[in-house]
Amino acid sequence: MSAITGTTKLLGVIGDPVEHSLSPLMQNAAIAQIGVDFVYLPFPVKAENLETAIAGLKAIGVHGFNITIPHKQTIIPLLADRSDIAQSVGAVNTVWRTEKGWYGTNTDVEGFLAPLLAKKPDWQETEAVILGNGGAARAVVAGCSQLKCQKIHTIGRNWEKLQQFQESWQTAAIPVDIQIHLWEELPELLPYTGLLVNTTPIGMSPHTDASPIDATQMQWLPPNAIAYDLIYTPRPTKFLQIASSQGLIAIDGLEMLVQQGASALRRWLRQDVPVSTMRNTLQEHLAAKSQHPS
Ligand code: NAP
Repeated sequence: MSAITGTTKLLGVIGDPVEHSLSPLMQNAAIAQIGVDFVYLPFPVKAENLETAIAGLKAIGVHGFNITIPHKQTIIPLLADRSDIAQSVGAVNTVWRTEKGWYGTNTDVEGFLAPLLAKKPDWQETEAVILGNGGAARAVVAGCSQLKCQKIHTIGRNWEKLQQFQESWQTAAIPVDIQIHLWEELPELLPYTGLLVNTTPIGMSPHTDASPIDATQMQWLPPNAIAYDLIYTPRPTKFLQIASSQGLIAIDGLEMLVQQGASALRRWLRQDVPVSTMRNTLQEHLAAKSQHPS
């Protein structure tokens, strides 16, 4: 990292907790590679201190920052404005300074899309099935809508939550028509599913033996289907191990993490950023951690 001096500009991430955030590692690796006079820091901010912290970040001239749990929604009233994507997703993960105040957007959608667009350009014939209807599923719905997927199905375990999820998309800045289902209906959808996305935490470390669907159900997918797991620890998850063993295309959550960060850094620096440095830094870190879990 280049020396921090009196002219160094500040970037960072606010959250509670932020101790485990991989963003400082990835962003500072990119900043060092480019050689710009910035540093990216973790800022632990409790929910009750959010407003004070945002005013403080403005007062000390912070250039821009990421937002993680639990502030992705609660920061919205503290912003001067936000993008249509952030409004539709209902969450902000990236903020920068404007003359009117903080402007927020959501780069998770771009992060989710990057590895899919690298696979094929045309998704209009593809039916997408999204497992889970929480925060990350919102970025996935927005992404599938941008891909113009033929149908977007969301699977959940609570019918009321599913209905609220569906309704929220009807009134979003960028409305999306989705179909909602309980898990029991999943087997009927699988033979038509070109893209199956796991947005639940099932299979996340330390519950690495769990998978949202089993090997038998995975066999019902068409042979060219893509299985996409937003989880990035472990690599691969059980879900993706099953998918790969059946010859399906498997994508894990690391690229989404890298690309949402790259998209944020591009906006702050207004220049191209070294995505491969960010990816390699995280891959090496996660590989070392899986060898020596703390
Ligand atoms: P969330 O808001 O808590 O949503 C989780 C969803 O999974 C909810 O719909 C929840 O259902 C469902 N769920 C949880 N446990 C389940 C179970 N045992 N059976 C069936 N459904 C279950 O969490 P999130 O923020 O969306 O994050 C979800 C996952 O995505 C996490 O693993 C996270 O690490 C990952 N993620 C990755 C990235 C990336 O950049 N790669 C970005 C964001 C998130 P209920 O609502 O009924 O509880």
